[in-house]
Amino acid sequence: MSSSPAGGHPVVDVALVGAGIMSATLGAILRRLEPGLSMVVLERLDQVATESSSAWNNAGTGHSAFCELNYTPERADGTIDISKAEKVAAQFELSRHFWASMVESGVLGDPRRFLHSVPHMSFVVGAEGVDFLHRRCEALSHSPLFAGLQFCDDRRVLADWLPLMFEGREGDEVLAATRMDAGTDVDFGALTKRLFESLASSSTVSLGLEQEVRDLVRKDDGLWRLKVRDRRSGEDRIVRARFVFIGAGGGALRLLERSEIPEAEGYGGFPVSGQWLRCNNPQVSARHRAKVYGRPVEGSPPMSMPHLDTRVIDGHRELLFGPYAGFSTRFLKRGSLLDLPRSVDLGNLLPMLEAGADNVGLMGYLLGQVLESREERVEALREFYPAARDADWELVVAGQRVQVIKDEPGRGGVLEFGTELVACADGSLAALLGASPGASTAVAVALEVLERCFPERLAGADWQAELRVLVPGHGLGRDELRTRCGALRAADARVLGLDA
Ligand SMILES: Cc1cc2nc3c(=O)[nH]c(=O)nc-3n(C[C@H](O)[C@H](O)[C@H](O)COP(=O)(O)OP(=O)(O)OC[C@H]3O[C@@H](n4cnc5c(N)ncnc54)[C@H](O)[C@@H]3O)c2cc1C
Repeated sequence: MSSSPAGGHPVVDVALVGAGIMSATLGAILRRLEPGLSMVVLERLDQVATESSSAWNNAGTGHSAFCELNYTPERADGTIDISKAEKVAAQFELSRHFWASMVESGVLGDPRRFLHSVPHMSFVVGAEGVDFLHRRCEALSHSPLFAGLQFCDDRRVLADWLPLMFEGREGDEVLAATRMDAGTDVDFGALTKRLFESLASSSTVSLGLEQEVRDLVRKDDGLWRLKVRDRRSGEDRIVRARFVFIGAGGGALRLLERSEIPEAEGYGGFPVSGQWLRCNNPQVSARHRAKVYGRPVEGSPPMSMPHLDTRVIDGHRELLFGPYAGFSTRFLKRGSLLDLPRSVDLGNLLPMLEAGADNVGLMGYLLGQVLESREERVEALREFYPAARDADWELVVAGQRVQVIKDEPGRGGVLEFGTELVACADGSLAALLGASPGASTAVAVALEVLERCFPERLAGADWQAELRVLVPGHGLGRDELRTRCGALRAADARVLGLDA
């Protein structure tokens, strides 16, 4: 429970800044491990899950590296490196375990409100792409995490798998696809809302909307003081917390800088915006059931290669193509144009300039995307769906991602495309930067927060016992994961109503 020592502001055990999937997941896990912890959630907007975690702002791919070709780079000797793919797949398994336990315990209700089986497919055209895809499938087939991945270069079978993409596809070019039936589409917005509904029903958790954290400082008593502005009244108040998680998405970098912890030194951010083409013709949407990823275009950021995706959003089946990457200086979709300039300080100016100089190609690519006409965008769609009619598609704005710029010893400022948890040495504060693989790794991120910020409690018998129920795959070594992966995945699928 929150306490209020004489004359002071109330003290909470945990302050979660931002009401997206990351805070929701960490909050839900902490509540299960330690029901008596007092928590406050501080969200600047008037609803939860309205930034990147909203289903319309992200692609909803349960990232398992089944279809995303950027997770399996080709080495100089022509072999395929599957280490990143295995890591991403294992992280998503943790999310599935957690959701299954939360469904079983009644917290998440009907899993069809947020999770659906949708085959994950990679699609390539041309001899070089077909050869790559074949070698990739062969390399992945040695890992139990990818059991069931199928390769096909037979046009008749492909036309059966992907009827919409073969409408109007003429010519005799060689093409191929891989298919994984264990792929998923996740409505991270619906999931986040459900997790917060459950959290807010507890007497120890307080959910504050339109509460913007403007500053935070650590005092000699070891407590963090968060300066919080009520955006309705304009009034400021102080919240004191023993532990702070900055799950503020694009807003996290600014708050991390304000915290002045030494670990924050040298970090910068580079925003990448996005847009989708949304199909407004249900007869077209009904003829496609897959998430189909292609090969990234030269110079494009790895997470921005367009894909043709079946989605289930708010219970409705949708078809989206994108995201088309773009550039805006905002760090949040509902942020300020001054976000990027305000994030620059003496500590990160040099790394940011160095990263900019190293990524001139990327800047050119993003600028090109911003300037693309609607016709050019529909042309990109026709590479997937040649018979696409302009009138069936409308442009909608996706979420913002802020890629991490990091000062690497000996390398200078480096632009990263992953996610990075920054925590202070005594474990009283952690912040999550970056957005890829993103929401799919929320459980892995929460577990890392526990390891780095609550190591003693985590090692204790109580937390370990609870975690074995909540996330059965947590802590499994590589070999154990290999032997148990199939059985764990099948058990989750039964609870979550998935095909595999
Ligand atoms: C175009 C796009 C496609 C993506 N596709 C996928 C995908 O297919 N699969 C996947 O797994 N991930 C995907 N992601 C990434 C995923 O959406 C994010 O990693 C994830 O939603 C981040 O969750 P979060 O809780 O950290 O941030 P958010 O959901 O953005 O939540 C942060 C919250 O913090 C609030 N906030 C910010 N500053 C403050 C402040 N000062 N005080 C109080 N509140 C504050 C914001 O209003 C917001 O509500 C995609 C992202 C984008 C943009």
